[in-house]
Amino acid sequence: MSPFFKKAIGANNISAEKATEAVRTLLLYIGENPNREGLVDTPDRFCRALLEMTEGYSTNPEEILSTTFESESDEMVLVKNIEFNSLCEHHLLSFAGKAHIAYIPTDGKIVGLSKLARIVDVFSQRLQVQERLTQQVANAINKYLRPQGVAVVFEGVHSCMCVRGVRKQNSTMITSAMHGQFRDSLASRNEFMSLISK
Ligand SMILES: [Zn+2]
Repeated sequence: MSPFFKKAIGANNISAEKATEAVRTLLLYIGENPNREGLVDTPDRFCRALLEMTEGYSTNPEEILSTTFESESDEMVLVKNIEFNSLCEHHLLSFAGKAHIAYIPTDGKIVGLSKLARIVDVFSQRLQVQERLTQQVANAINKYLRPQGVAVVFEGVHSCMCVRGVRKQNSTMITSAMHGQFRDSLASRNEFMSLISK
């Protein structure tokens, strides 16, 4: 069962009923008939989907990054092509693509690889702009793992650019955030960039 039906009252004391009513109003606003067969359950479905796509608000990144392991080496750890899906806070339309994360451990302190994917989810599943999403992922890793360096790149395709406005289908937005050694050392940054572009 969806979290929407588990809690009839959502954040800010807004009832599920009031939320679905708002979607019905939007359907009327664009000239649709919310009572026709295909649309009857749409307000419910939309609210459930929206809650699912913003689940990240209820997860604390510290919980994900607090379990660490000891490794023998302090070499760069890189995970690339982590899929993400987020919602642009300006249009409530999706933007999606891939994230690449690298860090250089301090005293061999590492996290499980799935934790990096989880941290991408936690910050993606909120209303976002890609620049801030990139910073938040890098800042969280920097704060809780205290590595010698962290590098994060997001490559995203934004529906709000594809389906409305300028309607550019193939533009990819690339954002990056670097800390520590990746910021200070051109060699480390170049190594990261060349590994993710392969
Ligand atoms: Zn947008």
